[in-house]
Amino acid sequence: MGIPASDLGVAIVTGASRGIGRACALKLAEDGYDIVANYAGNRAAAEEVARAVEALGRRALVVQGDVGSEADILALFAAADAFGRLAVLVNNAGVIDVAQRVDEMSADRITRMMTINVVGSFLCAREAVKRMSTRHGGKGGAIINLSSIAPTLGAPGQYVDYAASKGAIDALTLGLGREVAAEGIRVNAVRPGLIETDIHASGGIPDRVSLLADTIPIKRGGTAEEVAECVRWLASDKASYVLSTVLTVSGGR
Ligand code: NAP
Repeated sequence: MGIPASDLGVAIVTGASRGIGRACALKLAEDGYDIVANYAGNRAAAEEVARAVEALGRRALVVQGDVGSEADILALFAAADAFGRLAVLVNNAGVIDVAQRVDEMSADRITRMMTINVVGSFLCAREAVKRMSTRHGGKGGAIINLSSIAPTLGAPGQYVDYAASKGAIDALTLGLGREVAAEGIRVNAVRPGLIETDIHASGGIPDRVSLLADTIPIKRGGTAEEVAECVRWLASDKASYVLSTVLTVSGGR
């Protein structure tokens, strides 16, 4: 006998193989959702998340797909449709890049950043709204976007392109949240500060969080679990009157 389908439905988490996405997948599984765990290249890590979800008594489906590709996003949502009713989307997959000034950035770098972080989140949100909105015959749901405190700081000399991409996520959250609020969907975002994950290594500074810890009012970096705890709350009915909001999770930074 397999694990029965969840009454709550399915949560898609993009970039669920590692870091904040992984922690979101596990907390949403704890809360009773079946999980569609998307990843880009690290299948072994995604499979490990799926086993952990199943150990919590929930079903898991692992789907490879680059959120920078519309075809991959359509395939991800088609796979999720066959798995169960979509109730939650966590728009988590995102990238940074090595530290550069704007006058050093190539068009390819900026385009990649915007394609994955902005276009990817927009298209995943579009597909989720088509399925969740009462206007389209859906039963409602919650979308949680991963923003960052970067747009509040600008990230000069590091990655202004990343900060700009997350500024777009804040506007997506505000506008889409109001657009679909009367259709049973709550759209919110979290705005993490410096969180201990692999993303800093991908930007060329693996120990970035410990290097900057002293500049954070709480004097430490955050954990993926601390961010996921907020995502879980925003996804839940406990946040039933909260929409178009960006919740800062930054230790005061
Ligand atoms: P991470 O540790 O680098 O993990 C990134 C995850 O996203 C991995 O699961 C990766 O899959 C997946 N991914 C990367 N590119 C993808 C693509 N094109 N399509 C689909 N999946 C992709 O990142 P993180 O630190 O957990 O960050 C998660 C989100 O939080 C991002 O949006 C990030 O901007 C945001 N955030 C992070 C921090 C921080 O300090 N960590 C702060 C503010 C905001 P693979 O394992 O297959 O590569």
